[in-house]
Amino acid sequence: MQDSSRPIDLDEVERAVAGITEQMRASEQWGEVSTRIEALKEVDTHHFGMAILTRDGDIVAGGEADTPFSIQSISKVFSLELALEAYGDELWKRVGREPSGDPFNSIIDLERHEGHPRNPFINAGALVVIDMLVEKLGGEGEVTAVIDFVSDLVDGEGFGINEEVARSDETGGHLNRALMSLAKHFGNFRCDIDQVMDAYVHQCAIELSCRQLARVGRFLMLEGPDAASNRGDPARCRARRIMSLMMTCGQYDGSGDFAYRVGLPAKSGVGGGILAIVPNTASIAVWAPGLDANGNSLLGTLALELLTDRIEWSVFGGIRTQ
Ligand code: GLU
Repeated sequence: MQDSSRPIDLDEVERAVAGITEQMRASEQWGEVSTRIEALKEVDTHHFGMAILTRDGDIVAGGEADTPFSIQSISKVFSLELALEAYGDELWKRVGREPSGDPFNSIIDLERHEGHPRNPFINAGALVVIDMLVEKLGGEGEVTAVIDFVSDLVDGEGFGINEEVARSDETGGHLNRALMSLAKHFGNFRCDIDQVMDAYVHQCAIELSCRQLARVGRFLMLEGPDAASNRGDPARCRARRIMSLMMTCGQYDGSGDFAYRVGLPAKSGVGGGILAIVPNTASIAVWAPGLDANGNSLLGTLALELLTDRIEWSVFGGIRTQ
């Protein structure tokens, strides 16, 4: 694993990104797009983009790194950061910190645990986190806070919220509504369900390119310009904790396999994006809309696996002997 004292070899990163992009474009398997959100069903699977922002401020990009895509569940990392900032450890009274072993929108576990979601990245947990933010900021206030957060980190560059995707997520969101009702039944949900749903689908419908997402992710890097460390110890502490949850719960029921193959804290979304962090070193965004059986980007995961094979960035160490 890289530490902050070890220089980053930019040529090595550029060679890796160029090679991986070429390999991904030649792939014969692209996975399947999500059927969960009607408006995302039409997305062509044949896209691949990748961007790496290093702690030195360099950006290395490959493929369609400037094409915006629906960030979906990657936005759960941003609402978690905002809720942890607002509530501190109080948050953990409402949401757990354990992997679920169930699909992203499973309801079974929520009943078993009496309305207490296993972690903030499954839908039930993300919805309770957003309920807390909506309670503090109001429905539109929550969306504005997430947008302001993203805007700051993309340095004011414009980005969109796709209303059609938001509407389609909402209309097809019966299970999400059921999760909120069940949490409410057990006393772990305070706000109006429609208001939280509206905030949730709008933050999920944010569209960013890989280049922009890598820039937003830099708040989780522990070193470098604008990294968590520069915002003080509480921000650094949150980054460390959020990354631990990304490692154990960030890819839903595929989190174990992802840690085994890639070895980085990361969060995926059903739009086919993945944000991965190399602590102290880099923020990485990949996008390929075709998903695997767990709902994670098939080629995005493969690209990250190849990257940590080539560059010794896995938090578990390198695999080369020399
Ligand atoms: N808005 C999506 C849903 O609730 C997000 C799912 C995801 O990206 O994993 O189904």
